[in-house]
This record gives sequence, structure tokens and C-alpha cells, in this order.
Amino acid sequence: MAEACKCAPGSAPGRPENILVTGGAGFIGSHTCVALLSTGYSVVIADNFSNSSPSALDAVRRITGRDLVFYETDVTDASAVRRIFSENRIDGVIHFAGYKAVGESVEKPLSYYRNNLLSTIVLAGACVEHGVPRFVFSSSATVYGDNKPPFVESMPLLPAANPYGETKAVCEKILADTVRSCSGFSASLLRYFNPVGAHESGLLGEAPNGIPNNLMPYITRVAKGELKELSIFGNDYDTPDGTGVRDYIHVMDLAEGHIAALRNAPCGLSVYNLGTGKGTSVLQLVTAFERATGVSVPRRIAARRPGDIAVCYADAGKAERELGWKTHRTIEDMCRDSWRFEKNRCV
Ligand code: UDP
Repeated sequence: MAEACKCAPGSAPGRPENILVTGGAGFIGSHTCVALLSTGYSVVIADNFSNSSPSALDAVRRITGRDLVFYETDVTDASAVRRIFSENRIDGVIHFAGYKAVGESVEKPLSYYRNNLLSTIVLAGACVEHGVPRFVFSSSATVYGDNKPPFVESMPLLPAANPYGETKAVCEKILADTVRSCSGFSASLLRYFNPVGAHESGLLGEAPNGIPNNLMPYITRVAKGELKELSIFGNDYDTPDGTGVRDYIHVMDLAEGHIAALRNAPCGLSVYNLGTGKGTSVLQLVTAFERATGVSVPRRIAARRPGDIAVCYADAGKAERELGWKTHRTIEDMCRDSWRFEKNRCV
């Protein structure tokens, strides 16, 4: 027998008003909450602060001048999630909460599969049970694996190089199957490229615990003098300057992509790349940072990082055609905004 689905069959998702944002205190989640609240949505945030802190929520309130409903909750906990759905009228879910460190996922595959898959299953289950028609999922360009860039949504997914990437691909499949089984339930799978930058106020940004894994937070810590130098992982790739090429996207552009998906994605299953469509090398990013901020970033060339691909960038055309969304902010904006936040950051 089919699982009970209370989403009205064939109904358009309509324009959701009250959005449950899981991982809303995290880097992308908090910026998306700013975009949602500034556009007139209300938000309910569920976050267990496993890689974030309450100060992000204060910053969201301060920037927007609006309040939000908050649950300190692990969204793998089905009864806690059920409680959120019964205490609030939820019109749509944006699911960010998840583990995201590639290297850690190799060391702790079971934690990654458990956390990332179970949270998606629990939340999609709560949607179909409570008749919530719209789900937006935080996926990643890592699902394209070894395909040849630019990555297009219609490419077959290739095995990811690590368990983190696999969890994203499996969650996409779980949501696709749920959409197929429940005609009133719609899911948008958003494949992010490399989110960087910060809110222009300097109050909200990326504050990873410990030594950063990702390039931009590493650059800002070196610029601040907290880390000695940047290691550039390989300068012998088949790219114009030999260093790895990525599609860096300003986190506020990315946040606005979620609103476009909520508003404009069609019924059923939809998949979109959220990227700029342009590749920037490690060396180009470092140079752009120095130019935009006037601060120098000591660096050295180091060995390639295992699992890295040479080039990754989006074909960003589908999101523009179907969602009416494209990026506006430049690499210079990303560098300046990241630096403004880092300079303000005291912890
Ligand atoms: N990178 C680097 N030094 C660092 C961190 C990253 O040279 O300390 C390079 C990495 O090899 C890749 C690019 O910067 O080419 C982006 O890496 P990041 O970890 O930010 O994102 P990824 O694309 O790997 O998810």
C-alpha cells in the first residue's frame, strides 16, 4: 500500500509563506533566512548548533529587524520534527542541516550516512504526513563526480569521490522517489557550486570551527594573521595557471536562488545548478582578494589534495531560464564581504 500522502494531488505548491529552515544557523542557512525574512516570509528554524552558534540567529534578527521561531533540534529526531510541524503551520521546507566536511566523511562514513540520509527521510516524511507541498534540498555540485564541466543538470550522476558526495546523491534519489509516490509533493534539488562571501553588513558570514578546510575562510584567516600561509593544493593541473578552478558564488546570490526556487520552480521534481557559470582558479582568487582588500596573503605551493578535481563550474542557464534567477555579485564583492566579516569576527 502506498504511504499516506496528505499533499493535495495535482495542486500547485502556491506561494509558501512560512518556511521551516533546517540548519538555519549555519553559513548558507542563515543568509537564506535573511533573504526570506527580507522578502516577507516568516521562518521557523531548526538547528542543533553542531557546526554553528546562536550568534548567527542574533545577526539574522539584527539585519532584518524581524523575529523568528527557533527550535534547538536535531532533525533526525522524528518526534521532535513532528512537534515542529504540529506547533506551526509550515508551508515549505528548506533543508540545509547536514554534515559537510569531505575529509571527515571519509573518516566517519556511518555518521555521515546516518545524519544526512535520516534527516532527509524524517523531513520528507513529515511533509507528506502533514500535507506540506514544497521541499527545497541543499545539494552539491559534487554529485557530478568526474563528468566534464560545465556541469549540466541532465548529466548522469557519477559516483562521488567521498561519502559526503554520496549522501547528497542518495538524498536526491530519496526525494525524487517521494515526489513520484506523492503527487502533491514537489521537491527542488539545488546543486551548489562554491559558496563564499558574507552578508554585506559584516554581521553574518562563514565562521568554521577550528582550521578551515575551504579556500576562502583559509585565505581570510591568513590575511588576518591567524594562520601563517595558504597552501595552494597543486599547480600542475590542466588549467590556465595550473591551480584548481571552481565556480565561486556569493552566498547572498545563493540565498536568493532559494527564494526563486520556492516561488518559481514547477510542480514535481526539479533540479537546478546554483552557480555563476564562470571558473576562477585558486591563484586568481588569491590575487582578487589582495586587490579587493589591499591585504597580502602569504602562500606556497603544496601537493594536490587527494580527491580534488581540476575544474568544476556550472552551466547556469537552466536556473536563469526557469527560475528567472542569476548571480549579480562579483568575485571582488565576495572577497570584500568575506574580509569585512572576518575583520569583525572576535571568536
Ligand atoms: N584549496 C587550496 N588550499 C586550501 C583550500 C583549498 O588550494 O587551503 C583549493 C582546492 O584544492 C580547490 C579550491 O581551492 O581547488 C576550492 O577548494 P574548497 O575546499 O574551498 O572547495 P571544494 O571545491 O573542494 O569543495
